Amino acid sequence: MGEQALSEASAKAPPASAGKGSAKKPAAKPAAARPESRLAMVRRARRINRELAEVYPYAHPELDFRNPFELLVATVLSAQTTDLRVNQTTPALFAAYPTPEDMAAAAPEHLEELIRPTGFFRMKARSLLGLSQALRDGFGGEVPGRLEDLVTLPGVGRKTANVVLGNAFGVPGITVDTHFGRLVRRWKWTEQEDPEKVEAEICAIFPKSEWTMLSHRVVFHGRRICHARKPACGACPIAPLCPAYGEGETDPEKARKLLKYEKGGQPGQRLSPPPDYPGLPAPPLGSAPA
Ligand code: SF4
Repeated sequence: MGEQALSEASAKAPPASAGKGSAKKPAAKPAAARPESRLAMVRRARRINRELAEVYPYAHPELDFRNPFELLVATVLSAQTTDLRVNQTTPALFAAYPTPEDMAAAAPEHLEELIRPTGFFRMKARSLLGLSQALRDGFGGEVPGRLEDLVTLPGVGRKTANVVLGNAFGVPGITVDTHFGRLVRRWKWTEQEDPEKVEAEICAIFPKSEWTMLSHRVVFHGRRICHARKPACGACPIAPLCPAYGEGETDPEKARKLLKYEKGGQPGQRLSPPPDYPGLPAPPLGSAPA
């Protein structure tokens, strides 16, 4: 980023000390700042992405999976629950039904029982049976690697399809979940609320090659530092680039106590995290509250 863009970004942002743990200062008031040009916003957005890449070099999907089918199933189960709870539930599920053919032939009651901890288990069991049967009958028992095929599967929408494409097939995609939407609106990258419109606007800001990792970094930041109710602004490494600095706790010491997962010294969400993850693995079901 050039100096001009940096100074434009800094003009809207809080004191550069905000993320570095020095003296408390009053929060910046974004509303009073002069409007930011599209070019300056794009440069600031790309800089935030670069900073997040340094903060979370190990960013990854937080669902445990070993193949596209497991990722598809885990993503369907993740609706209305935490990734941790899904990760604690899937080992027994995949031990019983490792392939689409196995799951397609499952007794609904047994499937429901296995996935009960994820909530909405009757509806989710119907989706899993339907999508397994569709994979068996329409796709030779393989998860298809195209968006237009994936969204024909029961219980699979665009968000689920993008998760599977990005992480099991290496097809770049932006995944707009609740964290992603909240953060990109806080950062003024978009004002859209509709996930598909958010996706389109964010895709226009970044090169395709960044889409999948950007999604992980933003979600990591939303889960660890930029929380919905009380963002830890005083401990946030991108505070100088953030127009929403001050929405949360700005006192560095109090902010540090709000950090979660590896940033707060706690276990992560995956029972089998990638080898470069610096935090602790999540505990199995029953050994700790999800
Ligand atoms: S925690 Fe969130 S709102 Fe606060 S400065 Fe960081 S990115 Fe901005």
